[in-house]
Amino acid sequence: MKLPVVQFTREQQAFRLKVRAFLQQHLKAGTFQTKCDSWLSGSDSAFSKLIAAQGWIGMTWPKHYGGAERSTIERYILTEEFLAAGAPVAAHWFADRQTGPLLLRFGTEEQRQFFLAKIIQGECFFAIGLSEPNSGSDLASVRTKAEKVEGGWLVNGAKTWTSNAHDAHYMVTLVRTAPYDEQHKHKGLSQLIIDLHAPGVTITPIPYLTGERHFNDVFFDNVFVPDSMVVGTLGNGWAQGLAELAFERSGPERILSTFPLLNELIVELKKAHDIAGLATASKLLAEMWSLRNLSLGVAQVLEEGGEVAIPAALVKSIGTKFEQKIPEIARLLVRAYPSLQAERAFDRYMAQSILHAPGFTIRGGTSEVLYGIVAKGVVAQ
Ligand SMILES: Cc1cc2nc3c(=O)[nH]c(=O)nc-3n(C[C@H](O)[C@H](O)[C@H](O)COP(=O)(O)OP(=O)(O)OC[C@H]3O[C@@H](n4cnc5c(N)ncnc54)[C@H](O)[C@@H]3O)c2cc1C
Repeated sequence: MKLPVVQFTREQQAFRLKVRAFLQQHLKAGTFQTKCDSWLSGSDSAFSKLIAAQGWIGMTWPKHYGGAERSTIERYILTEEFLAAGAPVAAHWFADRQTGPLLLRFGTEEQRQFFLAKIIQGECFFAIGLSEPNSGSDLASVRTKAEKVEGGWLVNGAKTWTSNAHDAHYMVTLVRTAPYDEQHKHKGLSQLIIDLHAPGVTITPIPYLTGERHFNDVFFDNVFVPDSMVVGTLGNGWAQGLAELAFERSGPERILSTFPLLNELIVELKKAHDIAGLATASKLLAEMWSLRNLSLGVAQVLEEGGEVAIPAALVKSIGTKFEQKIPEIARLLVRAYPSLQAERAFDRYMAQSILHAPGFTIRGGTSEVLYGIVAKGVVAQ
């Protein structure tokens, strides 16, 4: 597959500077503190409101629904700046990245009218309900079931590892709406929007390595979901979910989760006039630049409505290994005293990176599963 090379226009570069100035202003004012992996673990609904006030949630969506019809590349620039600043954007992340595009593609007019404006205003957050205690990589084996009742569905089962479910209002949930058939596992799956405050929903935290609240178990005990909350076509959940994954796997968040540490590494090496160390760090920068071009090319193809499953799997598998490598190399170049409470930024970012890094190559599809997708794609060509 050929990916386009993206050159930023003058307007796009001006937009980047505007976003950067906004973030610097809030950093100085103490609205937030830079953190590694803040896109998934930095949930701050007040900060999401500030982003919304700038028109930066759902910025690519049609004006008709309250969006700004900006380009995917502009959204890419915005995301890069959030990641570089380590800004707390997790609260609205899934709604902006996945749920909005999902509803625009498969949702009913009623769902779009109801949800999109709220998401854009930073008032409605979503979680993603795919994984189950016995279904992770083998997602087609999900067992959470929805049984037809008058006016809707009764849901029973459990989801696990659900990021930010405790902060979210709704969850796009993959459920079985037809009996499980071992021979045709991908059939009979549907996507339901479940109100996380509905009777019968229980959300319990799974302790995270950093001690922060991040992901959860979510249990459903006879939860009623109205017919109007079925997304797209009944039984088409597998295909719809796959389309969603392309948005999930190829963005700069699969490269830049530990960027604040890389940046601080360079600051420390410069302070120490460590030329050999800077030479090693510059190799990381070169690698980051190549990955960024790959990821930008995928964003451009997505903008043009093209098929990106294989390059998106490549970006995620190589990009997340790169994110994991940064703390490994940084600790060899600068003496570190990692602690989440450390005064020195380098030590804080190092602690955050070490504790978050194991999840990079697991969440959103493990590396092994992604290698499988790439291998099958290569064989098919
Ligand atoms: C930080 C974090 C946040 C997450 N957030 C969410 C969320 O918001 N919503 C959600 O639904 N899920 C979430 N997850 C769950 C994540 O998607 C799953 O953990 C992941 O899909 C792997 O599933 P599993 O844990 O069941 O591992 P398993 O599927 O049991 O895999 C175990 C091991 O076997 C390997 N393996 C499995 N199948 C194959 C195969 N076919 N070929 C080769 N190797 C294979 C895997 O690579 C892995 O090393 C999150 C996970 C993390 C770490």
